[in-house]
Formats: sequence, structure tokens, C-alpha cells
Amino acid sequence: MAVIRCLVHKPKGRTRNYVANVEPIGFPDTALVCGGKHCSSPGYIWLDEAEKVDYDRGKRIFDAFVASAMKMKAKP
Ligand SMILES: [Zn+2]
Repeated sequence: MAVIRCLVHKPKGRTRNYVANVEPIGFPDTALVCGGKHCSSPGYIWLDEAEKVDYDRGKRIFDAFVASAMKMKAKP
């Protein structure tokens, strides 16, 4: 499953190997917020190997892996 992180807080991937990051719709003005603690930067979608293959074949919607809580940003 994909994770949402900025470039500073790259996923460590204890159980998965994240091989690529892609921009969510609207990036950098996106509702996806980095899952790093105390970070409010726009998030990239980080993909594992199988998801990257799917992405290259045209898939654009991915399941998010969320350890505790998912952050989202609202319009002003
Ligand atoms: Zn971050």
C-alpha cells in the first residue's frame, strides 16, 4: 500500500520497499499532507514496486497505508 510523505520524510519501508514517488492531483496545492510527525508539507504518493508497475500501466488511485492517522488539508 502507498504512503503519503514529503521528500524530507521519505518512508523507511520496514516491510515494503518504496521505489517511486508521484505527485497527487493538484500538487503542491493538494489535500494530501505528509504523514511525518509535526509536518504539514504537501505529500507525495510513494509507491512500492507492484504499485509502480500499476502506475506505469495507467492506474492512478492507490490504497493508502496509514499507521495511526491520515492528515488532510481543507481549502481556506
Ligand atoms: Zn514531511
